[in-house]
Amino acid sequence: MARYTEAVCKLCRREGEKLYLKGERCYSPKCSIARRAYAPGQHGQARKKMSEYGLQLREKQKLRRIYGILERQFAGYFEMAERKKGITGENLLQILESRLDNVIYRIGFGVSRKEARQLVRHGHFLVNGRKVNIPSFLVKAGDVITIKESSLSSDKIKVNLESAGKSLPEWIDYDANTQTATIKALPNREQIDIPVQEHLIVELYSR
Ligand code: SF4
Repeated sequence: MARYTEAVCKLCRREGEKLYLKGERCYSPKCSIARRAYAPGQHGQARKKMSEYGLQLREKQKLRRIYGILERQFAGYFEMAERKKGITGENLLQILESRLDNVIYRIGFGVSRKEARQLVRHGHFLVNGRKVNIPSFLVKAGDVITIKESSLSSDKIKVNLESAGKSLPEWIDYDANTQTATIKALPNREQIDIPVQEHLIVELYSR
């Protein structure tokens, strides 16, 4: 499967803000944005006035990078959002939030979406009692997510379990005693703390 393999901090520097792609490092003084808050490359420090198209494109790239989605799959999510009832931009965010790798990250089972995706691929989680190792699997209201019993002895899972449930969004419930998370409802826009102007992305795809 295709995936992005370049230095991820460059992506934050390109967007000019923290996208929190690396877990702990993002909260430390080692964060590249804290040290070099300008775009990468030879002309990274040059001031440029951005066109309307440029602004729309950057907003789309930012959202895509936050969730670690490649171009074609992102376009597919946009089409899905357009087909759903409601506001397309908000639908798009809700779909991205419903991805299993994002949900695992939100619960705190992974320190970043990238790590959460890897844990899902390794088959550590069950959704409604069945193993799901597809990061793009979309959860729905009422779904119950648990850790596979044999995975509880994994060092990575053990470390992450200590912080699981500590900064939980209100649309997910978590029981630390049973390490069980329940999707109460899919999130609305106010419950999605992603700093993106989704209307710019809708405008971009409407061109
Ligand atoms: Fe972005 Fe995290 Fe790298 Fe900072 S450390 S630039 S927030 S990925």
